[in-house]
Formats: sequence, C-alpha cells, structure tokens
Amino acid sequence: MVTAVVGANWGDEGKGKITDVLASQADIVIRFQGGANAGHTIKNSYGKFALHTLPSGVFHPEVTNIIGNGVALSPDRVAAELKEITDRQVPAPRLLISDRAQIVMSYHVLFDTLEEARLAGKSFGSTKSGIAPFYSDKFAKIGIQVSELKDMEALKEKVEGILLKKNVLLKYLYHHEELRTGDIMEELMRYRDILAPHVADTSAFLDRALKEGKTALLEGQLGTMKDPDHGIYPMVTSSSTLAGYGAIGAGISPREIQKIIAVTKAYSSAVGAGEFVSEIFGDEAEELRRRGGDGGEYGATTGRPRRVGWYDVVASRYGCRLQGATDVALTVLDVLGYLDEIPVCVAYEIDGKRCDDFPTTGDLMRAKPVWKVLPGWKCDITGIRTYEELPPNCRRYVEFIESEIGFPVTYVSNGPSREDIITRVSAL
Ligand code: GDP
Repeated sequence: MVTAVVGANWGDEGKGKITDVLASQADIVIRFQGGANAGHTIKNSYGKFALHTLPSGVFHPEVTNIIGNGVALSPDRVAAELKEITDRQVPAPRLLISDRAQIVMSYHVLFDTLEEARLAGKSFGSTKSGIAPFYSDKFAKIGIQVSELKDMEALKEKVEGILLKKNVLLKYLYHHEELRTGDIMEELMRYRDILAPHVADTSAFLDRALKEGKTALLEGQLGTMKDPDHGIYPMVTSSSTLAGYGAIGAGISPREIQKIIAVTKAYSSAVGAGEFVSEIFGDEAEELRRRGGDGGEYGATTGRPRRVGWYDVVASRYGCRLQGATDVALTVLDVLGYLDEIPVCVAYEIDGKRCDDFPTTGDLMRAKPVWKVLPGWKCDITGIRTYEELPPNCRRYVEFIESEIGFPVTYVSNGPSREDIITRVSAL
C-alpha cells in the first residue's frame, strides 16, 4: 500500500513534518521528483534539520529510504546531508538510489546561475541548483543516468558530445570559460564513488516490497501551484509536483497509490516570483512572517523571506483536486492564534466577475481576492491532542476550510514537532 504526501499550494506546506509523522508507520519513504532546490524542515528528538535531497524517513532507522528515478540527483548534496545527520547522532540511514535517476552536474548549476544573471530583473527566481537545465537535458536526451557510471569509456564519448553543445553556449551567449572533458570525467568518478553503496534497481525493490505487503510513502516537493502543467507557468518548477507523477518518479504502478494526503497550510506562503492573489503586505505581513512556521517564514534552502498571505480557497481547492486528495492535512494552525479576525480568500474577482476555478496565469494576474472574515480564537493551541479540545472558533475555521475546499481534513497540525498532530474524523 502506498500513501503520497504532497503539497496543495506553493510548497512549504509542512510536508516534511507530516511525512516524518507518518514515516514511523511506513517501511519505505520515497522521493520521486525535484532536487536540492527546495527543502523540508523536520524537528524531532535529534534536533532540527533541513533536508534537501534525503527522504524524510532517514530519522527512522528501520525505514528504507529511496531516491527515485524522477529526482534530480546531486551526489555531493547526498553525501553532505548524510554526513550532517550522522554527525548529529542520527544512526546511518538505509538509503537506496535508483539506477535510473539522473545526475545534476556542476554545469547545470553553472548554466542556471549564468542564465539567472543574464535575465537579471526578468529572472525566474531560481535557487540556482541547476534544476531547470538538468530537466531540460533529461528530456533533450543528453542527461546522465546513474547506470551509465558503470561504463566510464562510453560515458567519456557521451560527455564530449554534450560539451560540444554546452561550450558553444558558454562561449557565445554567456562569454564564459569553456568546459573540459577531463574535469567532467573527474566529477563523474567522484559521483560514482559516492553513489556506489546505494545504487539499486529501486523499481524492482519496490515491486517485491509491495507484493510482500510493505507500506511506502511517496514524498512530494513543492506543491500544485509549482507544477509545470497545472501551476503558475512559467513561475513553476521543472518536474511535476503531483501525486500522479509519484508513480512515474518512483517506478511503481499508479494503481498502488491508495491514499493521497494533500498538505495545506492554514495561511499562504510562497518563495520566489509568481502570481499570489491572497498575498498581504506591510506590517500585517511582517507579523505573520515573523510568527509563521517554526521560527518565521524563511526558505529552508535559501533563507529567503517567504511572501505570505491569507488562506486561498480557490488555489487550495484546485491544489487538492489536482493532487487527487483522499485526505487533507491542515498545518501550522497554531500560528494564527494571535489574530482577532482571520480573513480567508473565498473566491477571485476577474474583470468584475466572480471566479471559483483557479485560472491560467494571464487571468490570474488580474484576479482580486474576495474575502470572508472569520473570528479568531486568541489562544495558543499547541499541546492540544484531540480535535474536541480545540477552541470552538478554531474548529469553525477548520470546518469552514474543509467545506470550502470540499476535501476531508483528517489531520490538523498544531506545532512543528512530531507529537503536534491531531487526527480527526471528517464529516465529509
Ligand atoms: P515542506 O517543504 O512542505 O516540508 O515545508 P517547510 O519545511 O519548508 O516549511 C514548513 C515549516 O513549518 C517548517 O519550519 C516546519 O517545522 C514548520 N511546521 C510544520 N508544521 C507546523 C505546525 O503545525 N506548526 C508550526 N508552528 N510549524 C510547523
């Protein structure tokens, strides 16, 4: 049985925390897309960790962690994160890396950086982790698969062909020093040594494990609004963030995914540029940013201040629908305890007309939020363990969101730690 934990919004919804909670009941945790460009923050008995590449199951020694074929694999980052967690007393995790995963090369990072600089004010706000050039190469069929590290001779010939193209761009578009085959081969040999203990046919491993009745968690990165097809194109990421892609990026049958938990935050936040209808500014935003998440709304990978806003029903309903949510986890509810009143964006107005379906980017640019204001609960709800004990206005807020998005909120997260989770039976 496979459960997916995915984002219903712009990312940073608290997926890492939900995965960490559920990982204790899972045998396997799988990353299926994205790369080291985003991160999960996880707080547990070992401390607080920002993971960018490793699956969230690494804190559970009995869990097998898999980096699936759909991931943009940065071997140096894998090595650095493994070192960081083991240096901090976490037992060495079980980690398998798909032999079909492809490798983020130093030149992907270089091209990402040069392109962002070239675009200057019109840039995509990339984290410069090489993700867009990586996926471009993958689909242009000049990517390097982990399995290819077995034959360095054949790989050298391939690298020569790749550099022929790359060097034209470097020389004439970016006026940058050209790349040398020898340097790239050295880089690949280093990667081969880092990856060797972990490489496996993870699809076959999963097939066997699932047939034996093992349970697996698919761990998504970012959220629906960052999906290249269904998100706020072009301010999106370069691989699909949807649970449907989980089957592809992990190498399992789509029929195996039985439970899809869409994670949505009790207010909104986004990193980088792009349309964000329910965004707020000024002192109101600063206060929410400061109180938000665990220690403020600042990116787990970049440290950049996140843009914040009130809950967006239109985006979240769409976000849950595209994910195929069987369950919703509403996170960071505790943060809203300081407010007298809580605005919720219940619809958009575009050119004077009400809009309930999340539109394409051009229309989204003209969308204005339609607000409904709910009463706050004015207390700290951290530490509460049952839904019934939550203040009535807090429950009203949860139930209002649930009825507006139309998907069952079965988990309520009221603090950053593993224990801060309330499960409830939805009336939907
Ligand atoms: P992810 O990428 O979706 O896992 O999200 P991030 O880790 O980037 O951001 C979520 C932030 O919120 C992290 O700092 C978490 O520790 C924190 N967090 C998660 N759930 C809760 C919650 O219920 N309450 C509070 N206060 N913080 C939370």
